[in-house]
Amino acid sequence: MFTQDDLRFDRQHIWHPYTSMRDPLPCYPVVAAHGCTLQLADGRELVDGMSSWWAAIHGYNHPRLNQALQQQMAQMSHVMFGGITHPPAVELSRQLIAMTPEALECVFLADSGSIAVEVSMKMALQYWLGRGETRQKFLTLQRGYHGDTFAAMSVCDPENSMHSLWRGYLPEHLFARAPQCGFDDDWDDNDIADFARLIEQHHRSIAAVILEPIVQGAGGMRFYHPRYLQQVRTLCDRYGLLLIADEIATGFGRSGKLFACEHAGITPDILCLGKALTGGTLTLSATLTTRDVADTISRSAAGCFMHGPTFMGNPLACAVAVESLKLINEGHWPAQVAAIEQQLRAELLPLRDHPMVADARVLGAIGVIETHQPVNMAALQQFFVERGVWIRPFGKLIYLMPPYLISAAQLTQLTAALSAALAVDGHFQP
Ligand code: PMP
Repeated sequence: MFTQDDLRFDRQHIWHPYTSMRDPLPCYPVVAAHGCTLQLADGRELVDGMSSWWAAIHGYNHPRLNQALQQQMAQMSHVMFGGITHPPAVELSRQLIAMTPEALECVFLADSGSIAVEVSMKMALQYWLGRGETRQKFLTLQRGYHGDTFAAMSVCDPENSMHSLWRGYLPEHLFARAPQCGFDDDWDDNDIADFARLIEQHHRSIAAVILEPIVQGAGGMRFYHPRYLQQVRTLCDRYGLLLIADEIATGFGRSGKLFACEHAGITPDILCLGKALTGGTLTLSATLTTRDVADTISRSAAGCFMHGPTFMGNPLACAVAVESLKLINEGHWPAQVAAIEQQLRAELLPLRDHPMVADARVLGAIGVIETHQPVNMAALQQFFVERGVWIRPFGKLIYLMPPYLISAAQLTQLTAALSAALAVDGHFQP
């Protein structure tokens, strides 16, 4: 049971992502979820277009994921990872090493995407210490997003992450102009010029390049050209710099490849995974790197990698991740994602001509409508809920990234609601 009183309590006492305590936007109580639907407290069912922010790729309440959790729970839910190891961590790391590029063979398990990014940046800093140099700058891209902790924020787009708010506190890194050539555009060599200039000028102080490969997510849902990523790899190699790929959002098939780096055929030196790693069931992340980076880190004065969270390698999270990867490895996702892509292209791309729409784009199981005006979030959210769909827009972006098992009819329900939403003036800020 979820009462009006519960809702009032929530409003008065509980923060939600990026909300004000003084005047929060309405929240919708969800009491259950299964397959591709969320069930509201009043019994209504919503088709899920968000996969709970890239995570629930196999849908909700998946029997195999539940069973993996129950079996592990009967053994142990958690045990410290210092001085102890356990089967789920070993099995998960084996699987991750097997399914990622060959050079990546050392795994750090932590609790969330932001922490995976912190870990990756710390790895890069310690790598240079291990080589007897202090290098503290990161080179990244405008419009990027890497999480909400401070090191992660320092490499997020300065405007979206309000770097002005943290001036003097946040380290200042180097930002190349965001890629302009879209995924399907003709490649223009000028697109890499700003990045090339920065790396050339500053390479002696740069510890690593960090970016989201191909899909810039929360910073604008932008899909950029694979040649850009190839050239970044080439430039990193030329100047001997590490490349960190943040595949926390893109990992595990979302962009149409198992990992987005595959669109460009490149291997990063450090790879961050999270979100869909557990099929969206529990929070867990993995940061993978090469033997050379791991060995060099251990040559730093600290003698070891200086990180070790309490819930490192949580057995429940690892066990459910193992099962999620098994589902991935059974190989149904490429056809599912391809079918979603085809349908999104057919049903969303024609909206490009709509007067409210600045752009429509699709890659893999991600469909994006960019509007001219920012959305009126509360009004739009209510409209979607009344239409029986869960779509959570932000800024000028209304986007879909459903669980891979969504049916064609459910997907049409999402795209039809999105299309209908564009017709209502009140859904947009003036
Ligand atoms: N990197 C990327 C690319 C992300 O999209 C996100 C989350 N949206 C993060 C890092 C941070 O992950 P988390 O929210 O689990 O800390």
